[in-house]
Amino acid sequence: MASAVVFWFGDRQHRWPVEMFGEIMSAVPLRNNKAIAAEVRSITVLGATGSIGDSTMDLLRGAPERYRVEALTGNSNVEGLVKLAREFNPRFVAVADPARLGELREALAGTGIECGAGESAIIEAGARPADWVMAAVSGAAGLKPALAAVDRGATVALANKECLVCAGDFFMERAAQAGACVLPADSEHNALFQALSSGNREELVRVIITASGGPFRTWAPADIEQATLAQALKHPNWSMGQKITIDSASMMNKGLEVIEASYLFALSPDEIDVLVHPQSIVHGMVEFSDRSVVAQLGAPDMRIPIAHCLGWPERIKGPSARLDLAKIGTLTFEAPDFERFPGLRLAYESLRTGRGATTVFNAANEIAVAAFIAGQIRFGAIARLVEATLEHWARSGNLAPLSSADDAIAIDHDARKRAAALLPEIAAKAS
Ligand code: NAD
Ligand code: MG
Repeated sequence: MASAVVFWFGDRQHRWPVEMFGEIMSAVPLRNNKAIAAEVRSITVLGATGSIGDSTMDLLRGAPERYRVEALTGNSNVEGLVKLAREFNPRFVAVADPARLGELREALAGTGIECGAGESAIIEAGARPADWVMAAVSGAAGLKPALAAVDRGATVALANKECLVCAGDFFMERAAQAGACVLPADSEHNALFQALSSGNREELVRVIITASGGPFRTWAPADIEQATLAQALKHPNWSMGQKITIDSASMMNKGLEVIEASYLFALSPDEIDVLVHPQSIVHGMVEFSDRSVVAQLGAPDMRIPIAHCLGWPERIKGPSARLDLAKIGTLTFEAPDFERFPGLRLAYESLRTGRGATTVFNAANEIAVAAFIAGQIRFGAIARLVEATLEHWARSGNLAPLSSADDAIAIDHDARKRAAALLPEIAAKAS
């Protein structure tokens, strides 16, 4: 697997140096490695009770003879976790809320399943010996458990983009050092992963990630400003967790994904384009120097990219509906509107600034989304709070490259404090 790790790592400073070319292409023969298919793989799902967790468990359910579950985690939904534990019989389950440990233990008494609670137990779940780990905790809280899996050289299917955005400066480097293999589970990045193998780094011109445009794609700015939580939660194509659904409505999600693509594939901001595609059928494309554009298509069903990560380097049989393009009929594309969706502009700016700016971008957005859910700010104020926090932080002169999880977490906490302090002013201000 080591050559494939190099493919994923890509030193950010060197921008996929030419000498890596041989390593990149040498990942291809791994696709015929039958030994991997025959093995029973041990699996851990971090964030098993969430939307991505649900899709992942559904795939495991489809081929129980191929997988053994090592650990499952959840935040506070003990009932959901217990239900999964009873079905999949993992060795370890952990709930993030320490107050729920007694309840978890009681519900699983007599099963022999070890129970843990609190942040350390979630990290322990990542550190336990599973071959394949789904990192699907929501938000920067997913960083430490994902790193625990990366540090022991696991294959990590990464859904949790916030943790990469928060720690992008060193996350992929740590993975390469440990011999871990990071597979993108986010649909757009998974599409790029699949399309990138059509050429090499020198031939790559740009990557394009698509965006549905969310529920407010055609709305006037004044209406977006006043959008309600119920309206923001009505995603036209995807069924997802609450945070990412709101991020999709503000297009912050696409901003996070631009940053994610940059760190995952060691691409500069100029090499990443966003294209609005309301049908969410084409997920990502790669343009090469001969002007070929290679795309990956599929129904908007997260089980498709997750199945690709689960099967990789082979392909497994997926349960998703087959794509019927004749039935869909029309695929449309439009340029993103950076004025109506300023989150996208802020993401590019943070990426260009670097030195912790993407960590601040993510932390301020998490605070802003929580404030919007709590009814403290209007929808339009989400981007304003993120922008104000970035400006406040830039004025502090606190810009430095991040080299450890502690660095990233310190900036994340600092940014959260700044965002919380700016919140009343932003909430009070008209747009
Ligand atoms: P979700 O809210 O449905 O689930 C999140 C999971 O994380 C749950 O199991 C929850 O219990 C757990 N969790 C939340 N906070 C936690 C904490 N502080 N400590 C420990 N566990 C905690 O979210 P989701 O939609 O499944 O998204 C998960 C991640 O995957 C996010 O980073 C999201 O951006 C990314 N992602 C999701 C989708 C999707 O279709 N849902 C697509 C691409 C990427
Ligand atoms: Mg996505």
